[in-house]
Amino acid sequence: MSWRCVLLLLAAVVLLTQCGVTCDEPNTVDAALNLRTGDWVDTDFNLNQIVGQAHSISFRFMLQHPNSYYNNIIGESGSGIYTISKNTSASGGCTDRATLSVNFGGTGGVWPNINDLANGFRPNRWYHIAVTVDNQLKLRLYVDGVLGIIQNSGFQTSLQLSGGTWAGGALRFGRRKNSVNPPEQFYGLLDDVAVWDHALSQNEINSLQNNHKLSGNESGLIAGWNFNVLLGGATHPPKHGRPLAFNGNAARVWPLSGKNEEDAAKMLFEQHATKLSLPVKGNWIVNQGSDSDCGSHRGYASFCVDMYYADGPTRGQPIYAAADGTVVLVRDGSADDVGNQQVPGCTECTEGDGSCGYISNEVLIQHAPTEFSSYLHLKQGSVPQAIKDKLAGGQPVLRGEKIGEAGQSGTGGAHLHFAYLWTVTLPANPGINPPADTPTSPCGYTPSVPDSKPLVTRPFLFSEYWAKPQGASAFEFIPAATPQLGDTVRDTSP
Ligand SMILES: [Zn+2]
Repeated sequence: MSWRCVLLLLAAVVLLTQCGVTCDEPNTVDAALNLRTGDWVDTDFNLNQIVGQAHSISFRFMLQHPNSYYNNIIGESGSGIYTISKNTSASGGCTDRATLSVNFGGTGGVWPNINDLANGFRPNRWYHIAVTVDNQLKLRLYVDGVLGIIQNSGFQTSLQLSGGTWAGGALRFGRRKNSVNPPEQFYGLLDDVAVWDHALSQNEINSLQNNHKLSGNESGLIAGWNFNVLLGGATHPPKHGRPLAFNGNAARVWPLSGKNEEDAAKMLFEQHATKLSLPVKGNWIVNQGSDSDCGSHRGYASFCVDMYYADGPTRGQPIYAAADGTVVLVRDGSADDVGNQQVPGCTECTEGDGSCGYISNEVLIQHAPTEFSSYLHLKQGSVPQAIKDKLAGGQPVLRGEKIGEAGQSGTGGAHLHFAYLWTVTLPANPGINPPADTPTSPCGYTPSVPDSKPLVTRPFLFSEYWAKPQGASAFEFIPAATPQLGDTVRDTSP
């Protein structure tokens, strides 16, 4: 035996003995599934056991980013539709909270309804959900044990589902089948998923909500997943312990207490591959944060920050690449002499609808297959020729390289809108040295560089910057974080 093997053996003995008292007797540590960008978990549970027939599905979840894009908590891996998703109110009202959308086989609805959005889901809090389907195929949704009023064409406590095969494939946690809008991603914790062979009664739902630990001996339980960690020869309850396939960086987090604050602190934050630096120099103030309750940073555009320069006019301040990458889009032909500037010669379809407003000037840099940084509202003509040449020639742009200047194109006042994108659809013609936009009739115009939507943002962190939260007296060094609303941020020590 070589010394290397002896060392390995010693290390193994140390690791084995480190678990202390928990090793002496079988023990189960309460854990939950933690999902972030690109993560999902596949079960081996074939949906043909429940689709088109009476059944229930119950689970607990905790949201990390309540205003983000669609979150498929429960999904199908194959054909059809079997989904339960967190959604975000499109209205952007500051008191609107996240909603839950249910859709089995093409029939679905949303809770809470449009008149009750203030009572929707908040982050960092456990919720218990039960969706039941009775023998007449009527679907009901219970939130924390309370029968919900669902909105589809009207407001009702049950939805009439159609018969037949709603969906195929296996039950999936965190996302839906790969062919459907992949950025529909659940962010947060999922726990105690259970599938039942009947419509759970109110009493059964109350008991599930109150004692969230499933014994496995509940009447009518077909399958359950508690995601718990087993120590010292412990086993899962009956009907639990089916195999799970973890995808992306899907992980379990533990030990959980069931208390909102303690369990929320266990949630893992995003880990993108690229280390991002602040794209500005000097003092900048964040006037819209990521995943915001109010305003425009929600839904597909949730993970963005708006900043303005604190030490003088923002317009004309240099903007720098947040990391090395490849320039994939440049637009700097839009005028920005005044806020919300309109294309000359273009008549708005309806006065004030913004239909003739210039599209924001933008530089888009790709860092990894699913990582793009976007710098919006740049000043007209401010993108250096060297960056345009790199768009044409494909040479890499370097971290800290000037890519343009802050402006107010496509917006009401000068600021930098920084977004980190997961997906983007690039125009066929990326528009090197774009000409002027062309007015069209009867209203509207053709932008010289086509728009690059649809896109979906992803959570991001800047590394190694300094921040002073609103009301604080001093800057502190931030190893890695997303700047928060009201923060003053800077790239160097003050
Ligand atoms: Zn913004």
